[in-house]
This record gives sequence, structure tokens and C-alpha cells, in this order.
Amino acid sequence: MRILITGAAGFLGSHLCQMLINKGHHVVGMDNFITGDPQNLAHLAGNEHFSFIRHDVSNFIFVPGKLDAVMHFASPASPNINSPYGYPNLPIQTMKAGALGTHNALGLAKANNAKFLLASTSEIYGDPLEHPQKETYWGHVDPTGPRSMYDEAKRFAEALTTSYNQYHGVDTRIVRIFNTFGPRMRLDDGRVIPNFIQQALRGEPLTIYGEGTQTRSFCYVSDLIEGIYRLLMSDEHTPVNIGNPVEMSMLELAESINDTTNNSAGIIFKENMRLGNDPERRRPDITKAKKILDWEPKINLKEALQLTIPYFKEKLSKL
Ligand code: NAD
Ligand code: UDP
Repeated sequence: MRILITGAAGFLGSHLCQMLINKGHHVVGMDNFITGDPQNLAHLAGNEHFSFIRHDVSNFIFVPGKLDAVMHFASPASPNINSPYGYPNLPIQTMKAGALGTHNALGLAKANNAKFLLASTSEIYGDPLEHPQKETYWGHVDPTGPRSMYDEAKRFAEALTTSYNQYHGVDTRIVRIFNTFGPRMRLDDGRVIPNFIQQALRGEPLTIYGEGTQTRSFCYVSDLIEGIYRLLMSDEHTPVNIGNPVEMSMLELAESINDTTNNSAGIIFKENMRLGNDPERRRPDITKAKKILDWEPKINLKEALQLTIPYFKEKLSKL
């Protein structure tokens, strides 16, 4: 297949490009580098299965030649207000990537009679009142809260994708991605794992926002990418959760990262750094992915940290 990946220079997009090329597909990457990094694609320069277009997906997208699939990953993704790459600092760009970008990417898929896959998120469940989260849960989202520019853009994107499927017959997929990490996340991304790993490697205390009782469930990037590929190759048009169902508190996560890195500086609690509407609990119910995609994650947290820490070590050594 010839596949367009928007957000190709980002963390997930760059892994997706590599995986698809390894499977024999041709990839056209697209990015405007607002939160991504050209370095993430440097190893693909000169690869005859890869080409790249620098473009903001909020504007009409033109790609020469026939496409068989469009995978829409372009969007800021970190909720951290202290990072310049956090979506609270890029609110209009985030809403445009989710709304106008999704519209343009769907239009391109329609014109090419291509498959379309939307990278949606567990954030569409908001601060959930149902636990774990099944795809049938409608969510608990504040439409004007501090995360609204991301949550509502993704909810709109899901609705638009569903409308293109039902009204125009576009062959769509929607993946609801739960917290995923691995190499190629930015050092200054602001999400919890890059923050904790670099603090630990610097021998500093890990910054827990709030009391650390809030939970998340972390998936390693290769597991996530495999799940997304299986979804692309399936016939499922309704949303599918992909993530790791092993849930832990931020306190447990911090202890585990300090243990793995032998960091003796401990933990500090930053009570007022916790952004409003920060979900208390998050864990995917992956029954649907297991059933229709025969997929479940294989890599546990300890292994995932061991695969990720060397990347951040190298990044820090180059500063
Ligand atoms: P990332 O910030 O590393 O990657 C996003 C990429 O999109 C960046 O390269 C950025 O420059 C690009 N981009 C943003 N707006 C653009 C625009 N208007 N035009 C062109 N390119 C644009 O983040 P990520 O973690 O790789 O996330 C990728 C996608 O997956 C996002 O859509 C995000 O919402 C979704 N997602 C990720 C996670 C996760 O845990 N990593 C969880 C849920 C959903
Ligand atoms: N968090 C933290 N310390 C940090 C960064 C984040 O305790 O240095 C917390 C954050 O408040 C949230 C959780 O870790 O409760 C996960 O945050 P992340 O930014 O990774 O993404 P989210 O899952 O909230 O979208």
C-alpha cells in the first residue's frame, strides 16, 4: 500500500513510518514540526519507500499520486502546561489539527478511495466515571476546561470520521490510544514518563503532580503500533481501545523509575502543578481489541523502561 501518515515526525508517527516500511509498504510522511522533530525521521532519509512533505494539515492537503490509506496522527498530544509543546499552550493549533486537519485528511481519503485511520485518544472519556473504560462509555468531559481544546477536538474528529463513513462510505477506522511511551518522545514533551526518566537520570527528585494517587496504564510503543496495524487491516469501523490494561498510581510509577535507574533522590510533591480535569483513574478495557484483532500487549513496564531509558540517556548526554 501507499500510505500517508500525518504527524510523521512525532513520537508515534515516526515509529509507524518505520513499521509500515518494514512490512513493505510505501510511506508518505507529513508534518509541520510544531511538536515533532525532523531527527525522528533522519534514519529514513534516502529510503526509496519513504518520502516527506512539510505541511500544516489545517490547510488543504495535496499529495501527488494515488494513496491507499491515510493515517491521521497530526496533533499536539502532551497536556503539560509547563512544556512549550503542551496543548494548553497550543490551543488553537490543537483544535485546528483535530477539526480542520481531520476534515482535510478525510477529504483526501475520499478522493483517493483510500482507507482512513484516526488517532483518537482515551481523553475522549475525560475524567471517567466508568472504570475501566469500554468503547461504549460516552465520557465525562468539560467542554471549556483546561483540556477541552484537545478532548473536544478529538471528539469532533471521531464524529466527523463516523459521518464520512456513514454518509460518504469512506472506509474508516478509529483507534482510541491510551498512554503510550518509548524512544523518540521529546525530552521537554512534559508527559509523565519523559519527565520522570530525565529527572531520575539527572539524579533529581521526581515531580509528582498532586498526591500521586491518580492512575494511568502505560503501553510500550511497539505493542501499540502492532495493535494499530491490525486495526488498519481489519474491517472495524467503530472505535477500538488500544493500550495496556495494567494500571498504576503515579506514586507507584515514580518508585518503579527510581528503582530501575538507582535514583536515590526520591520524590517531591508539586501540589499546584496538577492541571484541572486531570483524570483520577484511567485503564482501557481491551476486550474488543482482543476479540476482533487478536491483540494484547506483550511488553511489561519494566521491559518498556529498559527499552526507553537508553534513548533518554543518549539525548541528555548530547545537551
Ligand atoms: P507528538 O507530539 O510526538 O506527535 C504529533 C506530531 O504531529 C508532531 O510531529 C507534530 O509536529 C505534528 N503536528 C501537529 N499538528 C500538526 C499540523 N497541523 N500539521 C502537520 N503536523 C502536525 O505526539 P504523539 O504522542 O506521537 O501523538 C501522535 C498522535 O497520537 C496524536 O494525534 C495524539 O493525539 C495521539 N495520541 C497519542 C497518545 C500517546 O500516549 N502518545 C495517546 C493518545 C493519543
Ligand atoms: N504527572 C506528574 N508529574 C509530571 C508530569 C505528569 O505527576 O512531571 C502526572 C499528571 O498530573 C497526570 C499523570 O502524571 O496525572 C499523567 O500525565 P501525562 O502528562 O503523562 O498525560 P495524561 O495521561 O494526563 O494525558
